[in-house]
Parts: sequence; C-alpha cells; structure tokens
Amino acid sequence: MKILVINCGSSSLKYQVLDMTDETLLAKGLVERIGMDGSVITHEKIGMDKVKKEAPMPTHKEAIGFVIEALTKGDAAVIKDMKEIGAVGHRVAHAGEYFSESVLLTPENIKKLESCIELAPLHNPANLTGVSACQELMPGTPMVGGFDTAFHQTMPAESFIYGVPYEYYKKYGIRKYGFHGTSHKFVAERAADILGTPMKDMKIITCHLGNGASVSAIKDGKCYDTSMGFTPLEGLVMGTRSGNMDPAIVTFLQEKENLDAAGANTLMNKKSGVLGISGVSSDFRDIEAAAEEGNERAKLAVDVFVHRVKAYIGSYVAEMNGVDTIVFTAGIGENDKNMRAMICKDMENLGIKLDAAKNDVRGKETVISADDSKVKVLLIPTNEELVIARDTYNIVKNLK
Ligand code: AMP
Repeated sequence: MKILVINCGSSSLKYQVLDMTDETLLAKGLVERIGMDGSVITHEKIGMDKVKKEAPMPTHKEAIGFVIEALTKGDAAVIKDMKEIGAVGHRVAHAGEYFSESVLLTPENIKKLESCIELAPLHNPANLTGVSACQELMPGTPMVGGFDTAFHQTMPAESFIYGVPYEYYKKYGIRKYGFHGTSHKFVAERAADILGTPMKDMKIITCHLGNGASVSAIKDGKCYDTSMGFTPLEGLVMGTRSGNMDPAIVTFLQEKENLDAAGANTLMNKKSGVLGISGVSSDFRDIEAAAEEGNERAKLAVDVFVHRVKAYIGSYVAEMNGVDTIVFTAGIGENDKNMRAMICKDMENLGIKLDAAKNDVRGKETVISADDSKVKVLLIPTNEELVIARDTYNIVKNLK
C-alpha cells in the first residue's frame, strides 16, 4: 500500500509518499506561500532533481491539487492515479487528552480535534484544513491523524499538573501536553532496537534539538515527563521561543513595553530564544559562526542553550532514578557535534562520557559515547513522517 503523509502549516504544506511494502520513500515535496503571492511547489521524485512550479494557490485545496498533479503527471510522477494511494496520514499538532495514539479521522474524531483548536490556534486549524481539502479531492480515501501530543499522554499527573488552581485544569484544560511526541517516540524505539534492549526496561532521555526543541524522559517504555508544556513555548531556550522563565516577566514587560496579550505572545514566541539573546539569528550555524568571531552575545546564547539542556537532563535523571540511554536528534542534535560535546561535557558524575572521534559525525544512526561510558549516548536522525505512515498503514490495512 502507498501512503501519502501531509503536514500542513498555515501557509505551507509538506508531503511524502511512501510505499509501505518496504517503507521506501518514493517522493517528497513542499508547497510554500499558500494564500500569498508567489505560491510555489517544489516536488522531488527520489533519485531525480527537484522540480519547481509557481502557480496561484489561494487555499490548501489548490495546493493539494498541485501535489496530486505532481504525484501523477509528468516525468517526476510516482503513481498513475490517486486511487493508488491507500490512505493519507496527517500530522496534527494537538489532540488534547483525547488521543494517546494515531486514529482514523472519522467525523466524530475530527470534531474532537476541532475542540482542541483553542489549545493550538496556529496549528490545528491549518492541519484540519489539510484534512478537509484531502477529503474533497480524494473522496473515499481513509484519513488518519498522527498527533504531536499523543506520545506524552502517558505522563503521570505529577508531571503534567501546573501549580495553578486545579479548577483551571478541569475548566480550560490547563496542563502540560508536550509536543514533538512522534519524534521522541521514534528515536526512543530506534535506540531500543539498536541497543537490543526492550524499551520497557530502559530509562531514556531523548533530546529533540531543532528550531523548536524539547527533551523527554521515557521510563518503562512510556513518556514520563517532557519539557514542552501547555504550548510549545515551555522548556528549553529555542530558536525564537523563550522557554522557561519567571511568568512574572510577561506582565512586567507588558506594562513596561506597553504590550497587549498578542504582543506579549509574539515577543515570547518569535523574538526571544537564542535569536533574542544573540541578536544575530535563530539558526545555530549563524550563532556559532558569530561566536567564533568573538561576538559575546552569540557566545552567551550558545552557553544558555547548553545550560538549559544540561539542566533538563539532570532533572530527568533525578525523576527517573537514573538514565541508561540519551538520544540526540533533529537539526542541532543530528548535525552539531560541538553542541553535543558541550551538553555532555562534565557529566562523568552521571555516567555520561562522549567519545570525541565517534561524535565527529552528522545525520547518521550511531553510538557516540565512549566505550566506558555507563550511559549510552546515541545520534538518531528523526523521521516523523515514517511514524505517521506506519501508523496510518497499520490502522487502515484491516479496515476493509
Ligand atoms: P529542525 O527544526 O529540526 O529542522 O532544525 C533546524 C535547526 O537546526 C536550524 O535552525 C539550526 O539551528 C540547526 N542546524 C541545522 N544544521 C546545523 C549544523 N550543521 N550545525 C548547527 N546547527 C544546525
């Protein structure tokens, strides 16, 4: 069976087609600037050059129309007809407390996701627009949702309840949900496979370090705690997000800078993080280059990022009464050996010791800890689309 995986943002759409007989990636692509001037689709049949096409795409429906055209017509086509697509797997950001795994998107389940829009006002509407556009253009094809929050639903209440009046949990759903769950689950399962140990017998800390970044503690095969919270703003200092700070800073800055709620939200989400500290960029490649040239604020941004990741690792070791495996993944985790080295430096006391030669690697599944390190440290490239494709396949294969 061939599966189309769709990841809709507010003005963009990423897609992949996988053949699930052997999980081969057949094609992938990206549509940008949906609803704006200059809408463009970049399509790649694996093994061939990318093809770009500019065309007006006022909504996600037209964008998906162009995806269908790219998949079925011309030299870079990978299927003859959309009927060859057995199901569509959609990445959906927030499933609240409804789902702890991927589900078939029945009208009833879609209603539940619509009720989560309040919790993810930027992401869920775009994700659900993608679902309805696909339903219109591919009638009868089953749709499955894979959720960023699902894997974290196993967290115990002491991990997810905030120190605000309990009634707000009941009334508004104020609690920690966590994000990047598909990625944390994928790399934890891969680590268990690579090390040949059942995941339920492991204590794993997964570090998803990308532009958005989060750390998870995984015990007994389940998520025990994670650094992102009610929204993806909590936790690590990220590309442009502040991460943890004294909540009083928000109201203080609102008064001082004359900001309304939306302004404060933009400040914390888009202008903060390592961009805000360094004043250089949200991208660690630029920040590290500036730091090397002597830019003190860039150096500080790196140090703050490293410090925060270390602090989470330490706290999760305490929460789980130990750790046996640490995994690095996502843009920074997979590509930045200096960052991995700085994070793991001076952690011998916790049994964590990198091997500099083994750590001199990018984007490849491998163990990077020293042979005498008590804790195994691994680099595992994440693959969220593959997880969604697998879940989709497993859900729909028994439908008919
Ligand atoms: P992601 O959100 O997982 O796509 O990660 C994107 C981020 O990874 C970028 O903003 C960079 O900060 C970081 N990144 C990617 N490649 C490198 C690299 N070679 N060195 C350092 N950071 C990198």
